[in-house]
Amino acid sequence: MTADEIKDNFKKVHDEIHEAEAKAGRAQGSVQLCAVSKFHPVEDICAAMETGQLLFGENRVQEACAKFGELQAAGKDYSLHIIGALQLNKVKKAAEIATCIESADREELLAELEKHCARLGKTMEVYFELHTGEDSKSGYPDESALMLSARHCAEGLYPHIVPAGLMTMAPFTADEKEIRKSFSALRALQEKLRSEFPMLRIDALSMGMSGDFRIAIEEGSTEVRIGTALFGARAQA
Ligand SMILES: *Cc1c(COP(=O)(O)O)cnc(C)c1O
Repeated sequence: MTADEIKDNFKKVHDEIHEAEAKAGRAQGSVQLCAVSKFHPVEDICAAMETGQLLFGENRVQEACAKFGELQAAGKDYSLHIIGALQLNKVKKAAEIATCIESADREELLAELEKHCARLGKTMEVYFELHTGEDSKSGYPDESALMLSARHCAEGLYPHIVPAGLMTMAPFTADEKEIRKSFSALRALQEKLRSEFPMLRIDALSMGMSGDFRIAIEEGSTEVRIGTALFGARAQA
């Protein structure tokens, strides 16, 4: 895809987000766009940056390091969210390069992240990822495991970790009811966490991708993670 095509796509997607916000009776600008640049080269990210895009999502730490290391060296301004399943041996690097880990999905990951963030003297935002679609492999398997991690954060077990939101991937299906169910479950969990742990600020609801972000916005998404609709098809999934 050419830089001009990418820029056109950003305009289109922003228009569609604004339309969905209006349709859902939500304020314009209440939904943030996370541009998912996985498998796309640095030049594509630069084209996106020229439209004013600051927030990017990558699902593999090594790839993110290579690309955003280069952009950082070039003096570019950005926020980087890690959105893919994280192996423990990748947490050290992730702690160094990320602004937020959206795919926090188990206690041992939080413990490892705390260790590295403490060493770096850095506080890291995390979103707890809930598994709601049977196709994806990542995410806390159920709400109670996620609630327990939230409790540990609220109790001060991980002083360098700041829970800031929830994330999910809806099942890949044409059945809109199934997709909606996944998003509304995440929203309901946010309400539960807010009442149980008012000291945490679980403000972000990261849900919605290229195929389902309009539904996600109707269901209360505050951040949509969009790749294909911005950068085109990926060579790999
Ligand atoms: C790849 C990916 C996206 C973006 O998907 P598209 O369908 O290309 O918009 C969003 N979230 C996660 C967790 C991903 O891995």
